[in-house]
Amino acid sequence: MLARVYKSTGSWYTVKTADGNFSVARMKGIFKIDGITSTNPVAVGDWVNLEEESGGEEGGMMITGIQDRNNYINRQSPGNKHQHHIIASNLDQSLLVATVKYPKTSQGFIDRFLVTSEAYHVPAIIVFNKTDVYKKKDLEKLQAWQQMYERVGYKIVPMSIKEGNGVEDVKQLLKNKTTLMSGHSGVGKSSFINAVFPDLVLRTQEVSDWSGKGLHTTTFAEMFDIPGGGKIIDTPGIREFGIVNIPKQELSHYFPEMLALLNECQFNNCLHINEPGCAIKQAVADGKISEDRYVSYYNIVESIEAKSY
Ligand code: GDP
Ligand code: ZN
Repeated sequence: MLARVYKSTGSWYTVKTADGNFSVARMKGIFKIDGITSTNPVAVGDWVNLEEESGGEEGGMMITGIQDRNNYINRQSPGNKHQHHIIASNLDQSLLVATVKYPKTSQGFIDRFLVTSEAYHVPAIIVFNKTDVYKKKDLEKLQAWQQMYERVGYKIVPMSIKEGNGVEDVKQLLKNKTTLMSGHSGVGKSSFINAVFPDLVLRTQEVSDWSGKGLHTTTFAEMFDIPGGGKIIDTPGIREFGIVNIPKQELSHYFPEMLALLNECQFNNCLHINEPGCAIKQAVADGKISEDRYVSYYNIVESIEAKSY
């Protein structure tokens, strides 16, 4: 029987079978042996094979296999850089809820999110929430970011949940898709869910506190059905996707505006930092690549170098 994983605690999994019923399953021990690089062999979003546990006391369900993933998003384990944690799999897109202010989302954070999405072949959308409280300077920043990211090819939606602006646009973008939702605490993720899917929240509050406050302690990802079609994967407690498994030589592949120019660099192993004949640095100088995006690129290269010592 095929089922999809909605929640994973590391040893128990909430799965939904084709008949629409949820059940709790555990994993056959053998999977713990392979997949040494991942601390969780089964991830939210996975399609798994399910079997009735023979000889189990209550006839529990057991996961006996994992279907190949279309894609997945990965995170480095906080305590061990050699261990990875698959956050979610089989995604159609990722949604970053960001804010220019209240709280401020930094460009470095946004660009790391975008790099990770590119590296895992997940199209990314960025929503800038709370436009109702932006001052003139914040609105200018929003406009600059919107231009910068749209020029690279990303979908940007300014939004004010409070005033109802942009909310319907985002709702349409989520329809019939499996979307990984991310963003700092306080940017308005739960408010968004509340505003557009009130039924969903009623059902989910029992199992997960969308606000990320109060009694909420879990850091496990969890998937929710959107009424009318589609799924949202919430990732509480995951503030930043570490740039895992990306060699610095490859990083520019995940900046779409750089990828388009790579062939024009004089050296094919160009890091676009000090090399002569670098098409990327030339494009920055010519204003064809945003200086701010280049700074993010540079910072990520440095962080990759720092990690490899
Ligand atoms: P989460 O941590 O991302 O889930 O953020 P919440 O949904 O809990 O929102 C954090 C705070 O921001 C709450 O006090 C919300 O009422 C407020 N908030 C959310 N959206 C908006 C908005 O569009 N405008 C304003 N002014 N406040 C908002
Ligand atoms: Zn170069």
